[in-house]
Amino acid sequence: MTENLIKIKDLKVEYTTKKGVFEIPQTVHAVNGVSLNIQKGEILAIAGESGCGKSTLAKTIMMLTEASSGEIVLDNINILNLVKKEDLKNFYQKVQIIFQNPYSSLNPKMKIREILEEPLKINTKLQKEEINQIIQEKISKVGLDANCLDLYPHEFSGGQRQRIAIARALILEPEFIIADEPVSALDVSIQAQIINLLKQLKNDYNLTFLFISHDLSVIKYISDRIAVMYLGEVVEIGKAEEIFNNPKHPYTKALLSSVPELNSENKQEQIHLKGELPSPEDLPKGCKFHTRCPFAMEICKTDIPQIINFSETHKCNCFLYE
Ligand code: SF4
Repeated sequence: MTENLIKIKDLKVEYTTKKGVFEIPQTVHAVNGVSLNIQKGEILAIAGESGCGKSTLAKTIMMLTEASSGEIVLDNINILNLVKKEDLKNFYQKVQIIFQNPYSSLNPKMKIREILEEPLKINTKLQKEEINQIIQEKISKVGLDANCLDLYPHEFSGGQRQRIAIARALILEPEFIIADEPVSALDVSIQAQIINLLKQLKNDYNLTFLFISHDLSVIKYISDRIAVMYLGEVVEIGKAEEIFNNPKHPYTKALLSSVPELNSENKQEQIHLKGELPSPEDLPKGCKFHTRCPFAMEICKTDIPQIINFSETHKCNCFLYE
């Protein structure tokens, strides 16, 4: 039986921006009622175009962006209610994030040793020798030599910097890591090495990952399950093989058919999306995908499709299956 590490229930993230010369306030619906569970020990990937809300979801779980409503439950506690310093400290020991850009995520004025020491000095009462041991272990785990500890971030390549960022994410021995487009800023030749490293670390430390990427080839290689997001909603979720071999939602099919190497393997029908992604300030009524869906029917313009279960693990929201 699978055990959930994190349960997200009806999460909404909305904020107001001012638009145009008259600065008219408008509500941006960045995350729009997301409910999903992240199982212990899995890599759950979030797929979708830029602007679909996947990074906002990640930042909300990390409490870097404020949720408007809903729940994110970790260890039976809704983390959105955490306010005490001690509780927040405990949370950030369990949950860490790896950002897309290793150039901006490391302080250029600090040596690698200082970058890795900092979280241990703030969060633990460990002695210098113990801290040193942990740093040596983690830097070696990410495939770097201990000599690098006395250098600055600018003395490393992009791939090496991402390894350092991964070592920092591991330093407090978290249970859960969010990897937000962790290989998108890297050369293609380096991407596979970093993905393999994350898979290895997941096994070695029994980690759970939320892996965010717009690149379905990368997602196919690393994920156990996949949630596909469109305009702040999860439109399909399932095991990686269910999503890649038997996609149901027209948006998932369109995403897959746009990647030639995946399409030649799966022989999915080509689906061309109409128009541009609508603005999250001006969400379409009914099924949010109806303005671009080649199969849209009248009902799609007015009504919201309910969840259809194709298996215990595979679900999507679409009137085609009702
Ligand atoms: Fe397309 Fe309608 Fe299904 Fe939405 S509900 S994906 S518009 S067919």
